[in-house]
Amino acid sequence: MIILKSQEELLLMREVGRLVVEAQVLIEKHLRPGVTTKELDELITSFLKEKKAQSTFLGYRGFPAHICTAINEEVVHGIPGKRRLANGDIIGIDIGVRLNGYCGDRAVTYPVGEISSRAKELLEVTEEALCRGIKKAVIGNRLSDISHAIQSYVEGRGYSVVRDYVGHGIGQKMHEDPPVPHFGPPGRGPRLKEGMVLAIEPMVNAGDFKVRVKGDNWTVVTSDRSLSAQFEHTVAITKKGPWILTEL
Ligand code: MG
Repeated sequence: MIILKSQEELLLMREVGRLVVEAQVLIEKHLRPGVTTKELDELITSFLKEKKAQSTFLGYRGFPAHICTAINEEVVHGIPGKRRLANGDIIGIDIGVRLNGYCGDRAVTYPVGEISSRAKELLEVTEEALCRGIKKAVIGNRLSDISHAIQSYVEGRGYSVVRDYVGHGIGQKMHEDPPVPHFGPPGRGPRLKEGMVLAIEPMVNAGDFKVRVKGDNWTVVTSDRSLSAQFEHTVAITKKGPWILTEL
């Protein structure tokens, strides 16, 4: 399990966290109907090169791109390609970066042009679910207090939480222990300690929670083709409370 040993390590994680946000800001500036997901990927490829940082996704189990994209009913892990974004789409962009030996991970789902009120609500509920989970990332709580806060909020709003993919500890590796489910009863799992860093990343569906993997062996979609959104932050547990490392 990841436990940071020093303030220096924490600051290195903050540095990479900030870089991930800068990459997301760059994406946001270029999002418009007509842009391809490949163009967005190329944007981040050159940004990371310029910053002397690496994508943690490129080459991970053979993943062929620098970022993951997920349009509409796609949940996570879509491969950027020739598809052009259309007005009314929602697109999840997940960016994982390594810099100076430490990793940061941040996902945002963006509206493209003018989106439906149903889609707007899905984005709002998913982002709020992440916030509620983060608030439980405090010393002395148990891991599943985060999970429960997310699930109870999401289901209370009439949406569902994906079970098959979960968050994770993060540090010198992108995926470290413990796994962080976004569902389940409170009061379970390890006790949260100072120095733990977690990537909390709820995936929320407008319909059923069930998902499947498409024929490309990467893209995860909702089984009922309902819309899906995801927000993720890398969060350090500190004496002063949760520190979101992936915000400006
Ligand atoms: Mg992650």
